[in-house]
Amino acid sequence: MVVRGGQVLRHINLNTPGKWQIPIEYDVVSCDKCGMTFADTPVTDEALGWYYRNCSKYENYAQINGETAGKEDEFFYDVISKYAKKNMRILDMGCATGGKLITLKSHGFKNLTGIEIDTNSVLNLKKYAIEGYAASIFDEPDKDLLEKYDFVYSSMVFEHLLYPNKAVKNLVKYLKPAGTLFLFVPNALGFPIYDREIPNYFNQEHINYFTPNSIDTLMMLNGFERYSPDADANMESPSMELTIFAAYRRVNAIRINSEHHVIRDISGEKAVLKYFSEIKDKEKRELEMVRKAVDESGQIVIWGAGSLMRHILSEEPDIIPHVKYFVDNDSVKQRMEFFGKKVYPINKVKENPEVDIVICIMIAPTTIKEQIDKLGINNKIINLAAEEWR
Ligand SMILES: [Zn+2]
Repeated sequence: MVVRGGQVLRHINLNTPGKWQIPIEYDVVSCDKCGMTFADTPVTDEALGWYYRNCSKYENYAQINGETAGKEDEFFYDVISKYAKKNMRILDMGCATGGKLITLKSHGFKNLTGIEIDTNSVLNLKKYAIEGYAASIFDEPDKDLLEKYDFVYSSMVFEHLLYPNKAVKNLVKYLKPAGTLFLFVPNALGFPIYDREIPNYFNQEHINYFTPNSIDTLMMLNGFERYSPDADANMESPSMELTIFAAYRRVNAIRINSEHHVIRDISGEKAVLKYFSEIKDKEKRELEMVRKAVDESGQIVIWGAGSLMRHILSEEPDIIPHVKYFVDNDSVKQRMEFFGKKVYPINKVKENPEVDIVICIMIAPTTIKEQIDKLGINNKIINLAAEEWR
């Protein structure tokens, strides 16, 4: 249903490293026809495929997020087990390293398959004796897998897709006629509830900002209706994100079979605009904290070489000369440079007791606090993201 173009809600600028081949700027828009909010990005599917194959952070997900990842998987299990039964053949499309499949297996599920674009992640499934294939959601299914599954789910994948409609059409090929398609995506209605930093929602990966209505419309146009309750489409996850969990099944009579019959829904546009207006003040406060650190210690070290850092430095490039270097736990990032500055492992900061450290992390801040305590450093810490220890 997504038509490129629409009403512009805000311009996003994220300076991505050149080798990622992903455009650095886009407009967040709402579709003139259905109201669906999405990134009107010039990125191509080839470029995104390349990015997920070569810059996968999901390979390191458990390592970076530790306990949070485990909690998310258990939370997911509690919801999914209301719809998926142990005797079912189950497919996880876009399974990453298989955290959710492994959780299902630990609860006694047996017929499990994972498909993931990142080859290394598929290898991880083998360690747990779970069937796995390296493929994209847009690849034509292997003919042995056609209509094989009672339950096909895709967790935190659809917000990343350039062609969600094409993906649904492909995904349902794996599904038995009476099967359930289960989708699990961030809920844009939650953006103004939590007011987290812009790159948490708008970054080089997130393209679609679904609401329960817009994902229902997408599925309805493909002959599916949601049978799970609204309460499950508006759930708060352990990482404090409003999340849509939605179970769909085929309907015999397709009620809406053309986009001409879709009523434009403004719930997503309203939520996104409210969020953009509220986040402006928060960004101003954060920027003042960074500028104060620069004024006081001349140079700063930024802890976290992720999208929050790229967002801040793209919008405020005069700060860049004051950044001594970045530190990050992610070994993938440690091989990269951003804005001409290197990324080191976190223990590098012990060499520079004189600089202030600006924490630019959007997730798992309590883990970072533990790491700082463990390093035994006395640098002044400016924490941009974690309200609880500001
Ligand atoms: Zn649309």
